[in-house]
Amino acid sequence: MDDTPTAAEQDACYLALKARDARFDGRFFTGVTSTGIYCPPVCSVRTPKRENCRFFAHAARAESAGFRPCLRCRPELAPGTVHWSIQDASGILAQQAARLLDDPDAWADTDLSVQALADRLGVSDRHLRRIFEAAFGVTPMQYLQTRRLLTAKQLLADTALPVTQVALCSGFASVRRFNDAFVAHYHLSPTQLRRAGNGPAGAGTTVRLGYRPPYDVPTLGDFLRRRQVHPVELVTPGAADWRFARTLRVQSGGRAATGWLQAQFDPLHAQLVLQVSDGVREVLPTVIRRVRQAFDLDADPSAINAVLHAHFPDGDGLRVPGCFDGFELAVRAVLGQQITVAAARTLAQRMVDRFGEPLDTMLPGLSRLFPLPGALAQASADALGALGIVRQRQRAIQALAQAVACGALRLSASTDVPSTIAALKALPGIGDWTAQYIAMRALRWPDAFPAGDVALHKALGVQGQPHPARVAEDRSAAWRPWRSYAVLRAWSSLPNNPARKKVTPLNSPPTSARPISTARWGRSCWRPPTSAWPGCGSMTRNTNPPGKTGPSATTTPCCNRPQGSCRRISTARARSSSCRWTCAAVRRSSNRYGMPCCTYPTACAPPTAP
Ligand SMILES: [Zn+2]
Repeated sequence: MDDTPTAAEQDACYLALKARDARFDGRFFTGVTSTGIYCPPVCSVRTPKRENCRFFAHAARAESAGFRPCLRCRPELAPGTVHWSIQDASGILAQQAARLLDDPDAWADTDLSVQALADRLGVSDRHLRRIFEAAFGVTPMQYLQTRRLLTAKQLLADTALPVTQVALCSGFASVRRFNDAFVAHYHLSPTQLRRAGNGPAGAGTTVRLGYRPPYDVPTLGDFLRRRQVHPVELVTPGAADWRFARTLRVQSGGRAATGWLQAQFDPLHAQLVLQVSDGVREVLPTVIRRVRQAFDLDADPSAINAVLHAHFPDGDGLRVPGCFDGFELAVRAVLGQQITVAAARTLAQRMVDRFGEPLDTMLPGLSRLFPLPGALAQASADALGALGIVRQRQRAIQALAQAVACGALRLSASTDVPSTIAALKALPGIGDWTAQYIAMRALRWPDAFPAGDVALHKALGVQGQPHPARVAEDRSAAWRPWRSYAVLRAWSSLPNNPARKKVTPLNSPPTSARPISTARWGRSCWRPPTSAWPGCGSMTRNTNPPGKTGPSATTTPCCNRPQGSCRRISTARARSSSCRWTCAAVRRSSNRYGMPCCTYPTACAPPTAP
């Protein structure tokens, strides 16, 4: 979003702001000229007057325009923005640069310069500055400064870390520079943001991380439960209130830390509650980033659903689970080649028992770390064979471990995807399926597509056809740039999946988007309830026939938003004529925002992919 959004764009933002719609959290920020404060759209303070609002696509843009972050709604908790394009090379490069800057390892490098960033991306610093400013409206260094300050703000508010450590964790070279930057941007001293902090030492640190609904929490829980590797991971069952815990080792900015984390969803506030042990407190920004990736908290369901809903009508809340460590995920992907999920899990457990380091945690059931690349690189073929791993996979694991241990291969979200996929495929025993699976979960590439996957062929109805991989690949073009999400949705439609979802076979015409004439919604909502999404209970669906207005024929709870979180919108705006006008006006600008057309998008055709 640039400095001068069109009137229609501003109207769209203002509608989302008035509805306090969590689906737009982090998609834009509102700067209020009368207070000098900026907030994400979920802020609970009274909605400012329209004429006092300025809208920005990024927190960095709002800060560069002189606004300070709100202390009540805390913009630093908002999900990140992920705008993907498959055509625009400059846009991809700018996103790659932003991904690098989002990586806490980049903050930890206090000498990071635009030149160093440009060198890493293989372009000139002038070119990088130009495309970055065109995409984000700020320089790379302004973007980085905002990231560092917002991280510091969260650490000050949520942890009991001393201010000196907060400054270092957030990438400031000295406490003096940190204090200066804080006062200059926020007009506050760091200690003024100190809250009561967390509990006594040993109890860990708790932080909250926002996401954009809808989020299919039960299906993710089931995915993790079926793959949990003891005693590294533990999923405590529960319908929607399952809890995930695991041990972890974090190498960040030259520091190595080990500890554990626990995560539980709070759908009412669209947040994940994360508890980390004191051992990894000092690398908290890195842990938070990994957790955001592992649970795919930065995903933007509205942009993804606009492309995928027609073929996968039941999968709107599904996310692509990431990982906590790229190497661990890659090893587990190799172990899972051509065997069942349960068999792969058994092999991984044996590997942890044999090569994993023991770790003391206060959580029963968690007692080991996943083996280091160095340990597996030195493991003999006999030792791996004794675990039941066949020769071809032994070689793949050893080659992978050696490449990661010597630094030739980096498996994280900030690496270049095509060259990493090529490097993976050059290793023995790693083919396209494994490389694409690693790209999907460890590199966080939203457009990965393991075309040769047999389960995918089955789900898409192309199994048994000549060249099923080619057919699947050809047809998947319609799901770009979100093919990783399409794969997850297809897998979740298989009959052996307990939370089975619907999928439209490739050779059938896709389900049309919800028709505007029969699915007009009286209030701000997303879709009808399912067993997984109980709905707010307080809302009603307008079931009038097309063309008829007036009170609804039946009353049905109609949305997936947590109970009590919905707000009425005025009758005038709820009328379909008014809605159509809003949608048409806003959809025109969707290429810039990539946002759905209004605050009640079920009534409207989805926008085109960003
Ligand atoms: Zn606020």
